[in-house]
Amino acid sequence: MQDNTIVIQAPAVASKRSTREWQQADAAHFLHPFTDFGALAKKGSRIITKAEGIYLWDSEGKKILDAMSGLWCVNVGYGQNSLVEAATRQMKELPFYNAFFQTATPPAIELAELLAEVTPPNFQHVFFAGSGSEGNDTVVRMVRRYWDILGQPERKVIISRKNGYHGSTMAGASLGGMSYMHAQGGLPIPDITHIDQPYWHEHGHGMDKAEFGKVAASWLEKRILEVGADKVAAFIGEPVQGAGGVIVPPATYWPEIQRICDKYGVLIVSDEVICGFGRTGNWFGCETQGFKPDLMTFAKGVTSGYIPLGGVMVGDRMAKVLIEQGGDFNHGYTYSGHPVASAVAVANIKLIQQLKLVEHVRDDVGPYLAQQFASLKDHPLVGDTETCGLMGAILLVKDKAKNTAFPAEIDIGMVCRGHCFGNGLIMRAVGDRMIIAPPLVMNRAQMDEMMSLIRRCLDLTLADAT
Ligand code: PLP
Repeated sequence: MQDNTIVIQAPAVASKRSTREWQQADAAHFLHPFTDFGALAKKGSRIITKAEGIYLWDSEGKKILDAMSGLWCVNVGYGQNSLVEAATRQMKELPFYNAFFQTATPPAIELAELLAEVTPPNFQHVFFAGSGSEGNDTVVRMVRRYWDILGQPERKVIISRKNGYHGSTMAGASLGGMSYMHAQGGLPIPDITHIDQPYWHEHGHGMDKAEFGKVAASWLEKRILEVGADKVAAFIGEPVQGAGGVIVPPATYWPEIQRICDKYGVLIVSDEVICGFGRTGNWFGCETQGFKPDLMTFAKGVTSGYIPLGGVMVGDRMAKVLIEQGGDFNHGYTYSGHPVASAVAVANIKLIQQLKLVEHVRDDVGPYLAQQFASLKDHPLVGDTETCGLMGAILLVKDKAKNTAFPAEIDIGMVCRGHCFGNGLIMRAVGDRMIIAPPLVMNRAQMDEMMSLIRRCLDLTLADAT
């Protein structure tokens, strides 16, 4: 028999080119996500070339503190060898096989088992996908299938929230409440409706925060009654809205949402794509916010972003029906249960356990961040700060005493973000909110370093704005 293995020298990881050369090639061929293609082509992108711990380096050799964990995902920080080794080992052993047609691979089974261990006790089953968006597409199909099986096919409507983010596929973007996304491509798809977000600065002024939490939750009950309780399939939300600007709801919000959903038999979906895997100081954000979902979407932190993987944890209430009465579920992805991604996820979760990162966030750096962010309120630009675990937001205001916002044309968030880039710090701007979600491995000394960079950037922003 002929040996079909051809030995080819692996290419160098990245060829050496100047920043300008990278930018030219980038502009010529690469259409970036959520980007004005034309504007970026003129300006040139920033080229990130390596990373270690909580730091990145760009193609100019500049060191940058990554206070956004890549895109809310590098929970264990960069350069963790156990993840690299898990991927290498699995690639050599079995780089791919699918989970269709009654087959499985050991890493996917092991990951399913481990997820059942770290998620709340009512989650014993998982459906794998390749990303958070695919996970939320799965949610829509699974929720509707569940009600079909139970003989209530008219229960189709999913209630979500304005300014929530649930991904970029047709269903993900529809579940999300970003109006600028809906404006492109005729979204949302039918049977998805949005209520206002529990953002005190937008809707709650003059109201006690605990009271506001209940008022914001009552908007769900109102919408359920408008739609008709027998038509509502599920409510979906992020425990803490991430991309919307780290909107931390009052502690009264989610328990009241739970009460309302229970009252009308509506399923609860917790989108844990950002909040999962330790971000909020518990394994999952629903534990921090005090509610018990029926489904949980996850991605990002499950592999700390080292390799794409997402999915949906399916709670016992739904799993029982889908397994015992459902028959075929006609849905799935080539990469559902990808063995290499699963092996990396297993290594990542074990590392989170070994490093006790959940406890580290809950007992040490989470409270420390809360204290440090609270101390920023003495800054003339800072109208408020909010944190939950290792997520935080700084609200920039024009006049603290009168609580007035900057005019939109100043785009104060982008001014501040520019100073962050210039000073070796990655923070994200969402309107007038500057947000962070640093790697969970960050220690107090590194947090002090981050805080002094933040203060410097706020000072520079203030100088520009006055
Ligand atoms: N859900 C939430 C809460 C997210 O923040 C994101 C991405 O940022 C998604 C879903 C979509 O995940 P992905 O980009 O992996 O498709």
